[in-house]
Amino acid sequence: MDQFVRPTGLRLQHLIDGEWADGGTEAADKQDAVSTNPANAEVVATYRQATSADLRRSLDAAVQAQRDWSMAGMIRRGLVLRRAAELLEQRADQVARLMTAEEGKTLPEARVEVGASVETLHYHAGQSRMAEGSIFPSSHPDELIRTVRRPLGVVAVITPWNFPVQIPVWKIAPALLWGNAVVWKPASETPAVSAALAQVFVDAGVPAGVLNLLLAPGSIGAELVAADEVAAVTFTGSVPVGRSIAAVAIPRGARVQLELGGHNAAIVMPDVDPAVAAETLVFGAMGSTGQKCTATRRIIAVGEMYDALIPELRKRVEALRVGDGAEEGVDIGPLISRQSRKDVQDAVDTAIQQGAEVLARTPGAPDGEAFFAPTVLTGPATMDIAREEVFGPVTTLLRAADLDEAIELANGTKFGLTASIFSSDERTVRRCVEEIDAGLVKANAPTTGSELHVPFGGTKASAFPAPREQNAQTAADFFTWSKSAYLRTAAPWRPA
Ligand code: NAD
Repeated sequence: MDQFVRPTGLRLQHLIDGEWADGGTEAADKQDAVSTNPANAEVVATYRQATSADLRRSLDAAVQAQRDWSMAGMIRRGLVLRRAAELLEQRADQVARLMTAEEGKTLPEARVEVGASVETLHYHAGQSRMAEGSIFPSSHPDELIRTVRRPLGVVAVITPWNFPVQIPVWKIAPALLWGNAVVWKPASETPAVSAALAQVFVDAGVPAGVLNLLLAPGSIGAELVAADEVAAVTFTGSVPVGRSIAAVAIPRGARVQLELGGHNAAIVMPDVDPAVAAETLVFGAMGSTGQKCTATRRIIAVGEMYDALIPELRKRVEALRVGDGAEEGVDIGPLISRQSRKDVQDAVDTAIQQGAEVLARTPGAPDGEAFFAPTVLTGPATMDIAREEVFGPVTTLLRAADLDEAIELANGTKFGLTASIFSSDERTVRRCVEEIDAGLVKANAPTTGSELHVPFGGTKASAFPAPREQNAQTAADFFTWSKSAYLRTAAPWRPA
């Protein structure tokens, strides 16, 4: 465990068939891949990227191991998940530090993520002792009809970098609980924290081949999705990659769960205190450096609330402190990479060309590396930035004359992930819950954050119609198939 104390210069390997292996044998001439700290460009970890041959070995191992794992029974699998929860809790500080070094979020944010992941493991472990399946009456008096859940087989788990522990745990824990084997391809930006999580599962007793980790580029993800052995793909990431996965996996009959981007709106009515609303809005827009699929990208202020919000938003955005997330007192860490900083800056520049005005910007953000000052814009709703996801700490204040116009604006993007309504009027809240096209609607709360036991997922381009994540029942529906068993009793045969 010492390697996690100072997260620099780590050497990583893939987990294939229960062994940590260098991989990349057919690419020996290629250079090592690296992950770097977005706050200071230090190399956190190096590794040799997995190749098609490593993927093949992982798939073979998963197919081989899955049968015994499914025969082990729910309770034994639940005990393994419980042990994983205990181990992750013991290693929480090291894993959180590694996350901050590799992904950039602040240490308090990383600690919250690891803590929620521990709880998620406990939650799914607890499901192993719950009643399973249903019993139906039969037209025959001596017959019992029941449903039985069976594992799918091998499941592909493909995850993004922005919640490098929580999102994988949402997927891997229920996949394993229900007796599947997993081939996991995490984002290339966060290999070290992914390896630390895989080590937790290994140490908890997940048998060889049941969980395989490939540190690999997107092209290996595409091969994984196309592999005949893969019965289901659970993916969180961007819309274009999600769509390419659906296009390959669905025609060959694989099950697909896609959690994609968002452009989340918060409607603010004139009947709430603008100071209280602004506090929540800034948290929802800028927390985790705005790199949340659920971040508040648009604030739609109704009537006089538009003018009332501006000084309140300004006060809070200007009070934020941007810096290395490992330093105490820092509110906003860097973006994931210098490229991301350039993308966000380009999007703000384009917005200004399209009529945006900067209402507020955090002063004193360090120059260089991946730092970006949180920014509040205002401008026409037709600007690209008010429609397309820009993954950073930028939000746009829009004006609406009334609730009708606000709901129309909120629904005016291709996305439908989360939304908020700030109002003290119950009828207004109820109308928004019913009329806003989003998988999650909150009242007087940030568009970000969700309870780990509640179904989570979007609508429109933000998701794909499949059982939703997080909740044990919906996870069971995704990670198993159900068969109906008609069980009549046979009269024993006694030969004369
Ligand atoms: P991304 O789509 O670029 O990558 C996600 C994963 O897919 C990575 O592991 C990547 O290597 C892999 N990948 C890339 N190309 C692939 C291909 N052709 N086939 C298979 N796999 C491939 O996303 P990202 O930049 O890592 O994450 C940011 C995005 O994720 C944002 O759009 C954000 O909104 C979204 N996100 C959504 C949710 C949600 O729950 N809805 C949560 C977090 C992030």
